[in-house]
Amino acid sequence: GDETAKFANWLRDSASTLHDNAAYLTELDSAIGDADHGSNMDRGFAAVVAVLDETSFESVDELLKKAGMTLVSKVGGASGPLYGTFFLRFGTALAGAEITPASVGEGLKAGVGGILARGKAELGDKTMYDAWAPALDAYDDAVAGGADLAGALAAAAEAAAKGRDATTPLVARKGRASYLGERSAGHQDPGATSTTLLLESAARTLA
Ligand code: ADP
Ligand code: MG
Ligand code: MG
Repeated sequence: GDETAKFANWLRDSASTLHDNAAYLTELDSAIGDADHGSNMDRGFAAVVAVLDETSFESVDELLKKAGMTLVSKVGGASGPLYGTFFLRFGTALAGAEITPASVGEGLKAGVGGILARGKAELGDKTMYDAWAPALDAYDDAVAGGADLAGALAAAAEAAAKGRDATTPLVARKGRASYLGERSAGHQDPGATSTTLLLESAARTLA
């Protein structure tokens, strides 16, 4: 229905934003990783768009689950399984649910729970979770204050951007960047950056 089309628009908008930012994300990853985060995200989301082009989805949960499976299968490295699990669990949490600010909040929380289950990151480890954690808090606060979906997502995106910026001085404790030890400090985390792009896209498209 209408909601499924909106979520498909989110994935398409994310794909084009990640494509436009691929060089930037890869540059961030070249400082503290292996210079592939932009190409990983671009390749994965291009595959998601290819699936959207050839399949029509009946529900938001089917759409998100298929996106998750596609990311897991097309993207190697850390980010593929992490984002793949995020979308799989987000979709699973929405199965049979009406799309409301509350149900989407539960879905986001379930998705981030999947990132933690796979990656075991804690706040301050200089990973994408440093963008997700404040985003979930801001989302819940906005919903508690009566915000609609667009308002809650805008609050989440803003908080994610602050969390992303706060990764710069941190020493990485997870992923490839952790191999650098103290030398990882002074660089913005690529995954926290792509997470912020995904949430900014959600705020634009899921209104
Ligand atoms: P790889 O490091 O395998 O090349 P990418 O470059 O695509 O994969 O993704 C790197 C990003 O993945 C990091 O910037 C970080 O945000 C995220 N990441 C890595 N390990 C973890 C983890 N254990 N938990 C959460 N996020 C992680
Ligand atoms: Mg990398
Ligand atoms: Mg890699």
